[in-house]
Amino acid sequence: MKVSPSELELFESCPQRFIWSLDPDKKRHQSNLPSSLGKIAHKVLASAHKGGFEKQNSENRESLFNDIWSAVEKEEFESIQSEWPNTVVPQPIRWPKYFAVKTSTQYLVEKALSLGEVWKRAGDSSRPISSSNDSYPWVEKYLESEILKLKGIPDLVKESSTGLEIVDYKTGNVTDPETFSMQMHIYLMLVSELSNRKVTRLLIRDFTLQEKEISIDQAMIKKIRESILSAEAHLAKQIAPAKATLENCRFCNFKDICNEFQISNLEVTSEPIFLQGKILQIHSNADSSKVSLQLLVQKSIPIKFEGSVWISGLSVKPDFVIGETVQVMNNLHLTDSLNVLGSWNTTVSKKTSV
Ligand code: SF4
Repeated sequence: MKVSPSELELFESCPQRFIWSLDPDKKRHQSNLPSSLGKIAHKVLASAHKGGFEKQNSENRESLFNDIWSAVEKEEFESIQSEWPNTVVPQPIRWPKYFAVKTSTQYLVEKALSLGEVWKRAGDSSRPISSSNDSYPWVEKYLESEILKLKGIPDLVKESSTGLEIVDYKTGNVTDPETFSMQMHIYLMLVSELSNRKVTRLLIRDFTLQEKEISIDQAMIKKIRESILSAEAHLAKQIAPAKATLENCRFCNFKDICNEFQISNLEVTSEPIFLQGKILQIHSNADSSKVSLQLLVQKSIPIKFEGSVWISGLSVKPDFVIGETVQVMNNLHLTDSLNVLGSWNTTVSKKTSV
């Protein structure tokens, strides 16, 4: 077992969700738009660090930025479309914060270039780090360690006069850098192990161009080690506690098979995050980008509905018919008329037993 920072954070928030997310039979790999937008930004920044913007004067740098961004965006859009085969995925230009993230990325590219942070030899990111003699910096290098049981891809590892610095980019305004403490300490552990060098600083560069330092904390390293041992033990038994909370469950894709969620008593005043019912009517336009369902509600979590409800704003190519029972989850919002507005990535599936 080797876990990534996001997997270990998932284990900390809900161990059962962690186990299901690693189960190939249950895997529901579906990116969301903010993470895809973040991936585009990170790839464009990595390109800048690797010399993709070199030998361009500042007049045509903007058009070069747009060309690189468009190529990466196309790749990412095709990838997300393949993950959502029955859904009409919105065009990137309609993704939340698209223009803000794109503009911030352009500023960060300019900043990296003006600081001279361009290293053509940073080269092939996919080639594993093989020895402590690997030259620096490491730009988006995949790191893994059998000994630590960890894996991860720090955005940038560079040398300073005192040792190695790890830099990670965030696509937003980071108000509390400590939120990323576990992730950055996992990178620290990997880099220390693979380089045999001392890591002296952990830095977050957010897209407001601020650089924030996370203090190196031995207690966090101890916590990570304990968490890995616990995750490994639960994984071996394939059983773990499920922590049903609104925060944990709202975006979890296992709500339909999770007994703890199904019997949970979450805050009754909140918006629905799971609905089950018999289909009374289906309205859809020609390309299935606007689908509405009327359901005779059998179950709703956490809010109680009675009778029928319309769910509109869906973008799913229907493989269900009137009279069938479906389960609808993720990105559901109550409207003033007490019906429900979904989104392109609201999941609609035929009922499975829990
Ligand atoms: S639905 Fe909630 S409790 Fe169940 S696995 Fe997902 S996050 Fe955990």
